[in-house]
Amino acid sequence: CGIVGYTGPRQALPLVLEGLRRLEYRGYDSAGVVVLDRDGAAPQLNLAKKAGRIGNLEAFIDTGAVALAGTTGMGHTRWATHGGPTDRNAHPHTDMHRRVAVIHNGIIENFVPLRAELEAAGIEFSSDTDTEVVAHLLSRVMADGPTAGDLPASMAAVCRGLEGAFTLVAMHLDAPETLVAARRNSPLVVGIGEDEMFVASDVAAFIAHTRNAVELGQDQLVVINPDGYEVTSFTGGEPDFREFHVDWDL
Ligand code: GLU
Repeated sequence: CGIVGYTGPRQALPLVLEGLRRLEYRGYDSAGVVVLDRDGAAPQLNLAKKAGRIGNLEAFIDTGAVALAGTTGMGHTRWATHGGPTDRNAHPHTDMHRRVAVIHNGIIENFVPLRAELEAAGIEFSSDTDTEVVAHLLSRVMADGPTAGDLPASMAAVCRGLEGAFTLVAMHLDAPETLVAARRNSPLVVGIGEDEMFVASDVAAFIAHTRNAVELGQDQLVVINPDGYEVTSFTGGEPDFREFHVDWDL
């Protein structure tokens, strides 16, 4: 129901949690975060997700059970549509090797045939959500095929195969300071900071940090990294976006 992502010089976790709190008024049943850690021998995606209030997630994070250091991350508050409101169904969702993490608002209408096809290919699912198919599909096209290694092109290819309404944001180990996001019939805005960038379902998530924003048209995909953003249409049309300044108070 709420989405926020960050990449820049600061620690992502507190900014992401603060952004989720600012979206809390919309209602939700679970919350989760993922942060990319580049300091170890190999980069990794570390995540924490819990059914219940954001406070419940924060209490879990405060136990120190998972290390969530890193400067690229994203968070989600879920309003369950497919799969009950449980820890395992909370977002983010990952592929089997945890190379990709995905958060999603909306409904993937054709997830049943997509899931059946992935399971037939040997993929094991770890949730009952419609969302999880996106993580496995993105992992697969990033690893192999015409868009391999190209995160925006891979995300565009996955989105073209989806039906329904979605705001999706994804991170991949092969693109450590990057978030890729896409939208169809569901809101997505970009926040332009100084050497840092945000994506969110609502400007409320980042206006404490920047009021320079970008609104995206239908079927658009955006890549952000600390230097800036780039919009493309995932269906192949002209890029459709508009920069604006948030001059109202929330
Ligand atoms: N359909 C997804 C799920 O049930 C996303 C729900 C949402 O918009 O929060 O997990």
